[in-house]
Amino acid sequence: MIPFNKPYLTGNETQYIIDAVSSGKISGNGKYTKLCQTFFEERYSFKKCLLTTSCTDALEMAAILVDIKPGDEVIMPSYTFVSTANAFVLRGAKIIFADSSEENPNIDVSKLDKLITKKTKAIVVVHYAGIACNMDSIMALANTHGIYVVEDAAQSIDSFYTGKDGVKNPLGSIGHLSTFSFHETKNIISGEGGMLAINDLQFAKRAEIIWEKGTNRSAFFRGEVDKYGWIDIGSSFLPSEIVAAFLWAQLECLDKIQNKRKEIWNRYYNGLNCSKNKLNLPYIPDYATNNAHIFYLVFDSIESRAKCIGQLKEKNFHAVFHYLSLHESEFYKDSYSGDELFWSNEYSNKLLRLPLFYELSLEDVDEIINIINNAEA
Ligand SMILES: *Cc1c(COP(=O)(O)O)cnc(C)c1O
Repeated sequence: MIPFNKPYLTGNETQYIIDAVSSGKISGNGKYTKLCQTFFEERYSFKKCLLTTSCTDALEMAAILVDIKPGDEVIMPSYTFVSTANAFVLRGAKIIFADSSEENPNIDVSKLDKLITKKTKAIVVVHYAGIACNMDSIMALANTHGIYVVEDAAQSIDSFYTGKDGVKNPLGSIGHLSTFSFHETKNIISGEGGMLAINDLQFAKRAEIIWEKGTNRSAFFRGEVDKYGWIDIGSSFLPSEIVAAFLWAQLECLDKIQNKRKEIWNRYYNGLNCSKNKLNLPYIPDYATNNAHIFYLVFDSIESRAKCIGQLKEKNFHAVFHYLSLHESEFYKDSYSGDELFWSNEYSNKLLRLPLFYELSLEDVDEIINIINNAEA
C-alpha cells in the first residue's frame, strides 16, 4: 500500500540527537532549540520564536497571551483541526464559527464583519493547505475593532502572502501571534512539535514566562534577575533538546524538501483532468503562494469522492479526507447557535487529499492521476 503520508528523514536526525544527548543537556531551551528559533527569526523575520511541544500547545499559549476570559468570543473557521478551537475553549471562550469561502477552504472574509461583537477578542485564521487567507482584509477589520489576530499557520511553513502594498510576507509574520506544527504529517517534522511566533512584541516577555511553567526561569538564566519563581500561569510548553535536534536536521534541508513536494504537487495539478470528472483543483489566489503541504481535490458529491477513494484503494493508494465541521461536532454542536455553514460542510463531504510525501515517486503520482482521469464520471 502506498500510504497517504510517510515521514521523511534527512539523515542527520539521529546524529544531532546523539550530539544533544552526549552534551549532557537534554531538557529544553538549549543549543538546538536556539538554532531552530533563530533560523525562523532570521529567515522569516518573525520577531520572536519559541519552540513548543506541538502546534496545539502554541495555540494554548496564544489563548493565554491574548488573555481569553470566560465569555470572550473568538472567531475562526469551522473547517479546521480540533486544536484551533480547543485551545480557546480551554480558557472559556465562546467560539464563533465562520464559513469557508467558495473558492477554497479558507475563512470567508466577506462574512466576518457581521460575526464581530463587543465580546470579540480574537480572530484565528487558518491558512488551509498553506495557502494564505486574505490577510489585508482580515488585519484591517481586526484593527478597526481592536481585535487580535492569531494565524494558525500549522500548515503554512515557507508560504507567503503578498499584500496590497506589494510586499511579500511570510505566513505567520502578519498576525499578532502565529502557531506552527512539526507533527509528522506536516512538511517539516519532529514527530510531535510546534512553535509560537510572536510578531507583536508586547507579548514577548509574558510568552517566555508562560512557556517556562509560569516562572521567570529564562530571564534568570540570562542573568536578568537574581532568583526565579512563580510569577504567572503557565505550563511546560517547551520541547526537549532531543526534539529540537531532530527538527534542526529537518530545517537544514527545508529547501530540498519544499522543492520535492512542489514537484509532486505540480505534477498532480498539471496532470489531473478536472473538467471530465467535475473535479475542482486547489485554488490559489494571486496574493498567495503554494507550499505543497496538501494536494486536495473537491468532488461534486460525497458519493463520487467515496468511489474515487475505493478506486485508489484497489490499486493500493491511500487517499484521505478530513475535518468534520467543528460546529457540527459531537462536542460543540449543542453550544452552536449560528448560521448554517454551507461551504464548511461542502469541504467536509467533498474534499479529498491525495498522497503527498517526499519519497512518493513521480511514477506513483502518474498512476494516481491515471486512475482518477480514467474513472467514469
Ligand atoms: C496539524 C494542525 C494542528 C495541530 O498541530 P499539532 O502540532 O499536532 O498540535 C492545528 N491546526 C491545524 C490547522 C493543523 O493542520
